Amino acid sequence: MNSIIEKINFKKIIIIYIIISIIIGIGLILFIGSKFQSKIEFIYNYHEISNEFEKNNYNLENIKNKINKISENSKDVVDILILNNENEIIYSSKKSEFAEQNKFILNKKNNTLNNYFINPNYNNITFKLNSKDELIINTILSNFDLEVKKEYEDEIFYETDFNKQEMYLLSYSLNNNTGEKIYFINQINPVVNGKEYIKIGLAIAIFLFMIYWVLLALYVYQDALKSKLSPYLWGGITLITNIAGLIVYIIYKKNNKICFKCGAVQNQRNIYCTYCGTKLDKTCSKCGATIFDKDEYCSKCGEKIKE
Ligand SMILES: [Zn+2]
Ligand SMILES: [Zn+2]
Repeated sequence: MNSIIEKINFKKIIIIYIIISIIIGIGLILFIGSKFQSKIEFIYNYHEISNEFEKNNYNLENIKNKINKISENSKDVVDILILNNENEIIYSSKKSEFAEQNKFILNKKNNTLNNYFINPNYNNITFKLNSKDELIINTILSNFDLEVKKEYEDEIFYETDFNKQEMYLLSYSLNNNTGEKIYFINQINPVVNGKEYIKIGLAIAIFLFMIYWVLLALYVYQDALKSKLSPYLWGGITLITNIAGLIVYIIYKKNNKICFKCGAVQNQRNIYCTYCGTKLDKTCSKCGATIFDKDEYCSKCGEKIKE
């Protein structure tokens, strides 16, 4: 077994393997990204809009243009409303039924439910309030119909007509100066097989990473074997701690002498290799000064070093 391991060039294999893994990883990210493209674009633009809107001096026309763009590009957007501090609708990107009213007022659905709101004009609609982060997770991952509705049903089990309820996700941005706010009203249309793509992508990534992990431990095992160190100890440490183990191993070797003839790691104090008897320090034939690995001339007297 050890004789086989000694013959393999793990360094080369690991480098080639990492390059191949990176290519596969980029491919996976591009593939999954393409499936979620419109969702990712929505999240990105949503962030931009809310960040800009929350600044002191925002440009309303600019904001409207951006809002129009994400409304057009995302199937999830039901409507995006800009309200003044009196809750009057000053802009609606989709001219939905909500824009038919002058004002858009939300009330807490029940005292017991913190996240659910209703608008008195639309009794059959419940708005679930989402923080920015929740909206991101819901947009990318949620199977809205099944999961959010189930959660909602669990919380309002005492209501008998919840099946007739339409559910929208609501997220908002507020400008503290003007009191104006933007309501992002969304429906989540899950990406077909989206969760499966993410699961398979993760499984492939974990698998690739595990192989790399084992390869690195094998490399250290092999190197320790060649260096007459305990391969099980160093291979084991690397198997548990990965790159940290490798770094400790390299530092350990750096702090010791390595026999130039047989490769054994030797204590700094050793003058002769305990494995092959070779004198560990080469010395200059003229002046006797110590010669280091890659020296071509003696550092003390300038004598050319003979092999
Ligand atoms: Zn030796
Ligand atoms: Zn010399």
